[in-house]
Amino acid sequence: MKDDTLLIAGPCSAESREQVLATAEGLSRRKVDYFRAGIWKPRTQPGSFEGVGRTGLPWLKEVKETYGMKTCIEVADEVHVVEALKAGIDMLWIGARTSSNPFQVQRLADCLAGTDIPVAVKNPMNPDLALWSGAIERLARSGIQNLMAIHRGFAVYGQKFYRNAPLWQIPIDFRNAHPEIPLINDPSHICGRRDILAEVAQMAMDLAFDGLMIETHPDPDVAWTDAAQQLTPDALHALLDGLVIREEGADYDALDSLRQEINMVDDAIIELFARRMGISASIGEAKKQRGMTILQNKRWRDVLEKNLAKGREHGIDEGFLADVYRAVHQASIRIQKDTMKK
Ligand code: PEP
Ligand code: MN
Repeated sequence: MKDDTLLIAGPCSAESREQVLATAEGLSRRKVDYFRAGIWKPRTQPGSFEGVGRTGLPWLKEVKETYGMKTCIEVADEVHVVEALKAGIDMLWIGARTSSNPFQVQRLADCLAGTDIPVAVKNPMNPDLALWSGAIERLARSGIQNLMAIHRGFAVYGQKFYRNAPLWQIPIDFRNAHPEIPLINDPSHICGRRDILAEVAQMAMDLAFDGLMIETHPDPDVAWTDAAQQLTPDALHALLDGLVIREEGADYDALDSLRQEINMVDDAIIELFARRMGISASIGEAKKQRGMTILQNKRWRDVLEKNLAKGREHGIDEGFLADVYRAVHQASIRIQKDTMKK
């Protein structure tokens, strides 16, 4: 990692004083710009662990006193802001669920007016550049000088490879709209799993991001939140040591970005194939019940015709598409046959 790359690390959630301090201890052999820990956790489902709340604030103070790391937490309402400021937290971040809501962002901006605490804004859940920019602008208008943006990926229905699709073009466009605002990548919430974190962090470095926020836990498998994506401090050090830093200006980043996009499209194609095969099995079942033959030739001709016409609209080679659909149809027949045998 480059010396001036900003590093934010720490657990998804503060769970106990021991867990918070053990994480900080593990991280302390490298310069961590901000130690993170969520103490109020926005959860998708009610009944999940919602954070230790203000109980965790003294633990962060201890991290700062013992290890000299600045600290940061997520804030989602005015009470959080007041508590954080009172507790001497050094930086605040606004989470993806909150940055999606202009009313709430405005309330936070009003409450932060007149303070000089740095604030980082995560991209909203949905892939909407204007909404992300709008949140940044609301804070800027309240006089917040020290703003940062965190790219944590976007919720895309049906997406399975990533927890949140990176859609790299959005942070690239954000950077062009706000070149003065440091752009941090959060591979943890993009990936949702440990095995591909390094790849995404490397991509962020190749796209000249200014920093990384990575969730770190002394025993990730038993973490109360986001267990699959957290790294031990040692694994984080290894990841960071393994990053290749290239010079800005080389043209590899456009190529990498395109390859990443191809990978995403391929993931989507596989998921759609899997869905289509599942439907074929149900069709086999329905035909069996009705005593129908597998091959319904008119239906097959209609499907091919319709899809070739659609392909023509997109300029897709007709021979190629016909080959693909013949293969798909063959696979579908095989699946229906297997279903009928049962
Ligand atoms: C987090 O950083 O733990 C978090 C909840 O992030 P996000 O708002 O990106 O989901
Ligand atoms: Mn998390």
